[in-house]
Amino acid sequence: MNEIKKEEEKSLNFLEEIVEEDLGAGRYKTILTRFPPEPNGYLHIGHSKSICLNFGLAQKYGGKTNLRFDDTNPVTEDVEYVDSIKADIRWLGFEWANELYASDYFGQLYQFAVKLIEKGLAYVDDSSSEQIAQLKGTPTEPGKDSPYRSRSIAENLQLFADMQAGKYKDGEKVLRAKIDMSAPNMHMRDPILYRIKHAHHHRTGDAWCIYPMYDFAHGQSDSIEHITHSICTLEFVPHRPLYDWFIDKLEIFPSHQYEFARLNLSYTVMSKRKLLQLVNDRHVTGWDDPRMPTIAGLRRRGYTPESIRTFAEKIGVQKRDNLIEVGLLEFCIREHLNRIALRRMVVFDPVKVVLTNYTEDEEILKSENNPEDPETTYREIPFSRELYIEREDFMEVPPKKFFRLSPGQKVRLKSAYIIQCDEVIKDAAGNITELRCSYLPGSKSGGENANIKVQATIHWVSIRHAVTAEVRLYDRLFKVENPASEEGDFKDYINPDSLQVLPAAYAEPALSHAKFDERYQFLRKGYFTLDKDSSEDKMIFNRTVTLRDNWAKEQKKG
Ligand code: ATP
Ligand code: MG
Repeated sequence: MNEIKKEEEKSLNFLEEIVEEDLGAGRYKTILTRFPPEPNGYLHIGHSKSICLNFGLAQKYGGKTNLRFDDTNPVTEDVEYVDSIKADIRWLGFEWANELYASDYFGQLYQFAVKLIEKGLAYVDDSSSEQIAQLKGTPTEPGKDSPYRSRSIAENLQLFADMQAGKYKDGEKVLRAKIDMSAPNMHMRDPILYRIKHAHHHRTGDAWCIYPMYDFAHGQSDSIEHITHSICTLEFVPHRPLYDWFIDKLEIFPSHQYEFARLNLSYTVMSKRKLLQLVNDRHVTGWDDPRMPTIAGLRRRGYTPESIRTFAEKIGVQKRDNLIEVGLLEFCIREHLNRIALRRMVVFDPVKVVLTNYTEDEEILKSENNPEDPETTYREIPFSRELYIEREDFMEVPPKKFFRLSPGQKVRLKSAYIIQCDEVIKDAAGNITELRCSYLPGSKSGGENANIKVQATIHWVSIRHAVTAEVRLYDRLFKVENPASEEGDFKDYINPDSLQVLPAAYAEPALSHAKFDERYQFLRKGYFTLDKDSSEDKMIFNRTVTLRDNWAKEQKKG
């Protein structure tokens, strides 16, 4: 109930204001938005902002959202991407009203072009792309008319039909809108509508050898579908007059374009082209490498859809480009995992502890699966005479504020007894091989010595009962905040230490039943999830995120 109230109290973002105003004025009965990915790569966290926005807006106001593949560029597109995009949107928790393809509108778009020619508003230009660029002028200088601009309607109709029929080679001719070569907005200086490309399309095959440009395809596709609110990123602001011009001249359904700031995230890159380079040059193992900012990568890393939706909600909708701290995304996943993750004990770098006064064979102790869960359940943990603790939890000569185990100092073993170190055993080279300790009978929870105060609690596993697992620890993929804005190649800024593999960590046996859809907190180590590379006889865990934000601290040290 409180949650809902909070929702209502929040002020509207500018898009919600626009929608409420449109609905209030009766401009539309219901709203229809769309998410229009180009199937030339996997979706990244930036797309999830657009997805949450488009689907979220429709949900909030009882409307619908189309999924439209913007597949007008035959060369870079692929079915693998189409499938991954659908899987990712569903995983984020959204379902589209219709699955559509801009390529399905090629016939209709062609007719639109013919209509513009018939109205004297489009012409076929034989100029080379260099000549076209030259005549375009600059933002401060008007352009000049192409020598082909005054062709007759009949001639244009014939030439355009010939372009379509495959009479010409790539680049020999283009179709352009006839608008204004001295318009202050460069996009209005006779933009290109169609180019010749003898290329195979992943859906239309070889049916077409001319393909519409983005500006001509996108707005008209919106209009064909009767999209009410077409939401895109800020770089399309200067395209909006053209978007409106086509709708006006073609006299078709008036969709409207609105723009918001794209999401940029620190310590990564956010462009499919760049992400593809990382994949192709093998800086990562694939689009779903857990270090990638792709939805597939984040999912494999252990992110939850809820955390990503919360993140999108928290950053809100801005009208100015900015760089969002990746720490905010990590905050969102930590908060969610704290609520849902099962607690487990795993020792990464073990040192052996022998409890010299422990005479039982074994004992089964209990520990909470998740103290945050109001109906918390318990798991069983076997305890025995020989344990592993984390090597770094012991110091032979401790500095002042070291409260963990050291000779003569007591520490609590989580959900078990208090122990004290009596003797340190070393090998010939002086490495510690074993800690001889004694445990304090009655010091486990409920016992007569349970209330004895110790300064620290550490995690442990019973050696005999431990299961092993590979653990993969990740760091930021880039060494700098904004690699795309640095000088030179963004790949020069890749962090060479972004992956650390621990081949064998020792886990309490409860972890041997790990499931892909469960999340774990390895006590004091972070949040983890089972990786898809795991097999029947080998578990592999990815660290999703550490328990605290250590990065800022490390940076200062560095
Ligand atoms: P990229 O540059 O990564 O290839 P794109 O804009 O070319 O991105 P599209 O597939 O065309 O990718 O994008 C589909 C939708 O997602 C578009 O509406 C686009 O505006 C939006 N989008 C893409 N990147 C971001 C981002 N970083 N933040 C918010 N929205 C984005
Ligand atoms: Mg694009």
